[in-house]
Amino acid sequence: MMSRGEHRFRCPSCGESIVVDERMKRALLDAGCVLCQTPLTDADFTRLSGAPPEL
Ligand SMILES: [Zn+2]
Repeated sequence: MMSRGEHRFRCPSCGESIVVDERMKRALLDAGCVLCQTPLTDADFTRLSGAPPEL
């Protein structure tokens, strides 16, 4: 729990789904999926509405 999630990322290729903050989102957009390296777009992220994600 080091950083607060702001976006939910879902990979269109491998289905990986994680909650990321703005910085991580930018890193993913730049580098692609952490698992399968599929190039990502902004459409692969959903902005979370304030409430912290329950895991
Ligand atoms: Zn993937």
